[in-house]
Amino acid sequence: MQLTRLDIKGFKSFGDKTTIHFNDGVTAIVGPNGCGKSNVVDAIRWVLGEQSTKNLRSEKMENIIFNGTKTRKAAQLAEVSLSFNNNKDVLPTSYSQVTITRKLYRSGESEYRLNDVQCRLKDITDLFLDTGIGSDSYAIIELKMVDEIINNKDNSRRALFEEASAISKYRIRKKQTFNRLKDTEADLSRIDDLLIEIE
Ligand code: ATP
Repeated sequence: MQLTRLDIKGFKSFGDKTTIHFNDGVTAIVGPNGCGKSNVVDAIRWVLGEQSTKNLRSEKMENIIFNGTKTRKAAQLAEVSLSFNNNKDVLPTSYSQVTITRKLYRSGESEYRLNDVQCRLKDITDLFLDTGIGSDSYAIIELKMVDEIINNKDNSRRALFEEASAISKYRIRKKQTFNRLKDTEADLSRIDDLLIEIE
């Protein structure tokens, strides 16, 4: 699987549509301080479903929409698309080219799309589970994460190895199953109460 392109429009400092192509080898983004290099990483994190404004270096989600400049109007919509070549079937889908898109309107409405079909955030997170790609996965490593891994804050080193060894999906499913069991136990106990009342 290969990351092939990133399209950004109306996101943070990217008022105009900007496309970054990722070819074979290393892609480096260079530029002076404050030119928007980290905003590219934020855009990748965001389209992968990041919900934490703190991780996006923003006070509230609306602030990720292009604010405008002295000469340009603010955008009403932030839109980011990330495309992958899936010809090795790493992603569990029959598509050989996969594009995920996230949109946020100033009105607060938002939307996720998978190959231009509207989907849920869960469809996107499920698709990338255990691939090493995700808003909080080891595919995106910032300086502060290196510190966290070294200090093993919140068991972060273990979480990283679990994601890399593809077992985190089982942990998530286990949690979901336990939650369902809890709900079922509550339903059963409610039925018992009703039966006692009827008898
Ligand atoms: P450094 O090298 O100092 O870390 P950088 O190149 O990584 O800088 P970023 O942090 O990506 O820069 O970008 C910061 C710029 O993005 C600032 O100029 C800021 O005003 C701009 N910016 C952030 N959010 C928005 C927004 N919603 N609308 C317009 N511009 C924004």
